[in-house]
Amino acid sequence: MLLEKMKNWFRRHMEEQMAKIDLSNISHTYNPLDPKPTYALNPFSMTWENGKRYAILGPSGCGKTTMLNIVSGLVRPSKGEILFDETPVTDLKTEDRNIAQVFQFPVIYNTMTVYDNLAFPLRCREFTKDKIEERVKAVSDTLNLSSFLNSPARKLTADQKQLISLGRGLVREDVAAVLMDEPLTVIDPDLKFRLRRNLKEINEQYKTTLVYVTHDQNEAMTFAENIIVMDQGEIVQVGLPKDLFEKPKTTFVGYFIGSPAMNIFHSTVSSDHEVKINDTTIKTNSNLGNLKDKNVKLGIRSEFIELAEKEKNNTVKIKLTRVEDFGNFKLLTGKMGNLVIKSKVEREKPIPDGELNLYFPPEKCCVYSDEKLV
Ligand code: ATP
Repeated sequence: MLLEKMKNWFRRHMEEQMAKIDLSNISHTYNPLDPKPTYALNPFSMTWENGKRYAILGPSGCGKTTMLNIVSGLVRPSKGEILFDETPVTDLKTEDRNIAQVFQFPVIYNTMTVYDNLAFPLRCREFTKDKIEERVKAVSDTLNLSSFLNSPARKLTADQKQLISLGRGLVREDVAAVLMDEPLTVIDPDLKFRLRRNLKEINEQYKTTLVYVTHDQNEAMTFAENIIVMDQGEIVQVGLPKDLFEKPKTTFVGYFIGSPAMNIFHSTVSSDHEVKINDTTIKTNSNLGNLKDKNVKLGIRSEFIELAEKEKNNTVKIKLTRVEDFGNFKLLTGKMGNLVIKSKVEREKPIPDGELNLYFPPEKCCVYSDEKLV
């Protein structure tokens, strides 16, 4: 009875507005009866604000889909609560949560026309004929499906079918969120780029909360305002693309984001702000007072390392081993003893043969103790 009341309240409420989504003390194991269960998601709490774009980014098996399915109701979390606008929905079924979900592969009705596929979620909720026409037109225009509206869905190509799936997710304006699990995998790269832009426009126009799961950093960076980086069931950083790039909170984020990965060197703290890599002292802006003589790691992006004309403070001497011309920049690879260093330089810069001095700007140096940013 209470559940029924909650559902009705929820339906009414959701017709009026989209929701803030709270994941509160969530954790999940798929083998709860095992004496030593393994956790697909370790305990975490997080809020998805209404109308924002989020990407859940991480390598295969880190728990992205589990998190999405917990929000949609396909998986019940072992612990914790899901709240939509402060109301617990953990016990509600997927169909009662007012969520649209788009999967990696198309989920459509092959026997229906494209129009009927797109109209279906609206007809189920008894929208008026005019409203249905208006929404189907808007979504089919955005997704380039207008000329196929009267064709049976089965006659379309695999990527067009996925566009229908996406359209069915986007056609309702009243959903709490649209959850997308690697939705563009089957779509060709050019169209992918355009669709990501369209999704951004849809989000800006309709203020629909969009959550996009991907293992591709470029997809995440170009789509989302907020990126949730995951590793082995942990949320390791939530932030803007700029934060993840400039100040990775863990060495994992440093490796995972950016191309090439962040340069990370074993080093030892030698003073309040300095570390030693081999015998070279590097000044940083980090406060290292508590870590004197400790082994740490120094991280610096190849984009921030500068070519120096001569040896000076904060330069390291390297033996150049490779120069790759990428058209808009050159990527230098060099060795300092047994350490490999990569630096991106402007393509016009003359590169001397043999030994080079590379400058590490102190403000761009990140120090990691136990793999975490100091
Ligand atoms: P991918 O990018 O490969 O889809 P993911 O980051 O989405 O991976 P999940 O699918 O959430 O990760 O899986 C997280 C962990 O939970 C993995 O170790 C996976 O093997 C395990 N897992 C996922 N679904 C189940 C299930 N139904 N039963 C048992 N274990 C599962």
